[in-house]
Amino acid sequence: METVALLKTLSDAFGPSGFEGEVCATLQRIIEPFVDEMRVDTLGNLIATRRGTGDTTLMLDAHMDEIGFMISFIEDDGFLRFTQTSGWDPRIVPAQAVTILTDRGTKVKGYIGMAPPHILRPEDRDKPYKLEDLFIDIGAVSAGDVADLGIRIGSPAVIAYPFEQLNEQVIMARALDDRAGCAVIAKTLEALADQQVEATVVASFSVQEEVGLRGAGTAAYQIEPDIALVLEATVAADVPGIPPPRQPTKFGRGPAVIVMDNTMITKSSTVRTITELADKNLIPWQYRIPYGGGTNAGVIHRCRGGVLTGVISLPVRYLHSPYALMRLDDFDHTVRLVTAFTRKCPGLVEK
Ligand SMILES: [Zn+2]
Repeated sequence: METVALLKTLSDAFGPSGFEGEVCATLQRIIEPFVDEMRVDTLGNLIATRRGTGDTTLMLDAHMDEIGFMISFIEDDGFLRFTQTSGWDPRIVPAQAVTILTDRGTKVKGYIGMAPPHILRPEDRDKPYKLEDLFIDIGAVSAGDVADLGIRIGSPAVIAYPFEQLNEQVIMARALDDRAGCAVIAKTLEALADQQVEATVVASFSVQEEVGLRGAGTAAYQIEPDIALVLEATVAADVPGIPPPRQPTKFGRGPAVIVMDNTMITKSSTVRTITELADKNLIPWQYRIPYGGGTNAGVIHRCRGGVLTGVISLPVRYLHSPYALMRLDDFDHTVRLVTAFTRKCPGLVEK
């Protein structure tokens, strides 16, 4: 699988929380040659197993959902009101192009409209728009028009611009959080094809992370892993105006190891295992500076009697905005680290 094509296919797929079906179907097609079995569970998690020679189960998790919106009200004149399902900064939502998924499975384009500056009262000019003041304009002229398209209260939407490659190293795409993590797992499974691996690898492409880590908990409960590795996109903030202590990760420094966030404190033995493995394989890596946030590790490590869990993150700029930027060398280094971890597992893990 060519990396850029894989990232484009996955990040362009439609999949806000609760509506991950297209991402799930895409991933099934991609990983099918590299796994022994696959199933989609009740909540929609895609769980794929690659059997190993030993009796240790390693869970590799990445979430399929992206931040999105839901239609909340349809005006008589065909404009759509909406609410967010997760994670948007309302200040950057106005004046964006959106894609809405209809009940027919078709996609309808629209634009997030607002009152134009010409008619704003002077006292309102410096204030950010609130979500409730905004609306989606799909060019319809009546609520009947909207219904005929298959759009209703509850229809999902995302801000959508196409994948772009900025230069040799940098891509710009919509849903790298966390399709980049999904792509890491796919590339890892590909790298392990036809190799003897001791651990049974269970890939869990989970649903509804962005609304509160909902899918991964039920997936981990079913998988009963001995060890789990969560692959997540994380904040790279090496941009103008941000001092180094407030830059969780930096571009081009390799995969980031999470030591703590709002959902888990990583066992120091697990942090050491990952970082020593990276050093041994000459893979650059960085600590992610603790700043809060959370990942599926938060629910996985507390599953059943507890699961040894680590998080390896991809540095991504402009997370939770219409476009995110990622470096391909950071991606490749992450794949190499996860592949090395999987190959050596369980030998390198001290419980
Ligand atoms: Zn994420």
